[in-house]
Amino acid sequence: MIKYIPSLTDTVIEEIPDRVTLAVEITNCRGNCPGCHSPFLRDDIGEELTENAIDKLLADNFGINCFLFLGEGSDSAALMRLAGHIKSRWPRVETAVYSGRDKVDDSFFRTFDFVKTGPYIESLGPLNKPTTNQRMYYHGQDITELFWKR
Ligand code: SF4
Repeated sequence: MIKYIPSLTDTVIEEIPDRVTLAVEITNCRGNCPGCHSPFLRDDIGEELTENAIDKLLADNFGINCFLFLGEGSDSAALMRLAGHIKSRWPRVETAVYSGRDKVDDSFFRTFDFVKTGPYIESLGPLNKPTTNQRMYYHGQDITELFWKR
């Protein structure tokens, strides 16, 4: 099961390049980033993110063209199933996931259009700092540099 915090769902334009993105905060984070900005996301809290919940979110947020899972939770099979649902039910909406891990399985690159990897390390900075350890991939290609040109 994947859980999210409905009240934190937001439309963002900077997380994913050139997309209007619906960002959903996923709980049960398995990461352990030093300087974690949202420690509560490690807890088993929130509501289940179901296919119906995703359909309602996308129907209620007209114009969204990317759905971002902010975190991968603790149930990879459910995460992949939900991303697959978006692909089939909402073909014009791309999918993105932020994993706090340095490396993810190839299945992530096959399933999601955008994959962001790497724990947040305060001293190295976020994705828009050239010193960052984090990486953003689009269809498996590293596009991190795009964030440094803004
Ligand atoms: S990925 Fe890292 S920064 Fe994000 S919630 Fe998990 S531990 Fe915190």
